[in-house]
Amino acid sequence: MNAIKKILSVTDTRQYEEAGDRYIPIPGSGIAHDCYRCGKVHEVHYEVELDNGERVIAGSTCAKGESVEIQARFKSAGSLVKTLARNKAMLAGYEKKNVAYLEARAKVEAMPVPIIEIRGDKLVCGNVEVWTRTANMADPRDREERGECVRNGWKHKRMSEIFGEHPHLIATDWLKRKIEQQEKRLAEICNGG
Ligand SMILES: [Zn+2]
Repeated sequence: MNAIKKILSVTDTRQYEEAGDRYIPIPGSGIAHDCYRCGKVHEVHYEVELDNGERVIAGSTCAKGESVEIQARFKSAGSLVKTLARNKAMLAGYEKKNVAYLEARAKVEAMPVPIIEIRGDKLVCGNVEVWTRTANMADPRDREERGECVRNGWKHKRMSEIFGEHPHLIATDWLKRKIEQQEKRLAEICNGG
C-alpha cells in the first residue's frame, strides 16, 4: 500500500441539523466516496496524493500519512472540516430565520395599528394595554412615550403570533468571519502551510 504524501483537500459531506441550540451531523446523509484503503464509504474524507503521484480518496479513519507531520495535518484538517461544516449549517439556519423574521416584520408593519384609547389608568391598543397615570397624560411627551410603548407592545404581540416567541434578528457577521478564517486555515493545512 502506498503511503500518503500530501493532503489535497478534506470534505465533510454530511448534512447538519439543528438540535436544541447546536447543530449535529445527520448520520448517513453524506455522499458516497470509496476509500482507497478499505473500499468503504467515508462521509468525512480526504483527497490525497500518494508517494507514487496517484490521487485517491481516503476516509478519515483510514488516512495514514507517511510521516508524523502529515499525520498531524490529517488530525487538524479532519477536526477543522467538521467544525466548518457545523458552522456553515448554523449560518444557513440563522439566515433562514432572519428571512422569516424580516417577512414577519414587513407583514406587521403593513397592518393598521388600532386606535389607542385611554381607559382609566390604562392605555389600550387592540388587545394590548399599558399602565399610565391620568396626570401624566397632560404632558404631551409622556403621552407620546406611553403611546409609543403600547403601539410597540401591540406590534410585538403580532410578531410573536407570526414569527414565534422572542422575535429578533440574529447577528451573523461574527460567524461569517469565523467561517472565512477557518476556510483559510483549512486551505493552509491542506497546502502545507
Ligand atoms: Zn477507509
